[in-house]
Amino acid sequence: MSIKFKKSTGGELKFAGKADATGTVHIPAGTKQQKWTDTIKILSPGLMIGYRERPGETYPTTAQRELLLNAASSAREIMRTAVREMDRVVFFRRAEGQPFTNIMNYHFGLATGRSPGLPATNVVDKSFSLGDLGKTDRRWALNKIREGMLSISFHLNTGMYLIDIDNAKRTLKSGMAGTSNATEEGYATWAGWGGLDKGVLSAWRNGEIHVGIEMMHGGGYSAEHFARVIIHEAAHKYLGVTDKLYCWQGGYDALPFTDCVDNADSYAWAALSLNRGALLKGVNSKDGTPHVGNIA
Ligand SMILES: [Zn+2]
Repeated sequence: MSIKFKKSTGGELKFAGKADATGTVHIPAGTKQQKWTDTIKILSPGLMIGYRERPGETYPTTAQRELLLNAASSAREIMRTAVREMDRVVFFRRAEGQPFTNIMNYHFGLATGRSPGLPATNVVDKSFSLGDLGKTDRRWALNKIREGMLSISFHLNTGMYLIDIDNAKRTLKSGMAGTSNATEEGYATWAGWGGLDKGVLSAWRNGEIHVGIEMMHGGGYSAEHFARVIIHEAAHKYLGVTDKLYCWQGGYDALPFTDCVDNADSYAWAALSLNRGALLKGVNSKDGTPHVGNIA
């Protein structure tokens, strides 16, 4: 699709402030943030991207746009599958099956001994009893996870706007001068103040989803693993969850349930795993090795 227009707030110098002795630019109160990106393009009915044009270059390249389109549709598909899997167990009360149990036990802290106090009972495939209604049992925990997955799925399937981080060239981040970390996969500025980061205002108050288009394409990310970055950032934006630990960090496999449901990587890698039908531990950014063996 070829609809294209310049962002009205674009232009790096439009609201440029004066740098102080430390080189920090202070933007006068009331002015709009400086933006690095200057162009918005609709790549498909479900995907709009923001980026900074590179004069004399086709950017993003055709291959980079292909990857973006594939990653966006992959993210949507992964989340729909994840919700279907959660529904299968939570609503239709089918047996979890070992892959599902492994994924929940590992990524959401439901393994034996992982969650002191929560949930109060943690029996897999416990038969239904009226007395369990309102109890903090395993089904209650799974439903909490399902609610998060459903929200991410709803928003990503409604349409997504992805802003390029532009690691290689960017000299502004969040309206301030200074280059960003040159190896960022993605980020969504988290508005951890005033209580506005969660609840109905979360998506509006938290920043847009930013992804390193050129870096991930050049780094050989598959559509699935690019999608994982989108899902991780969507968890920040739409659920307002934080980063307790990334999957590749020590201690991740000991996080309790209460931390896991407030951790973006838990949702992202659990969703990828549910879509694969096997536990992916996420030990690196492109982990695709299914875990064999049971996690009880
Ligand atoms: Zn994060």
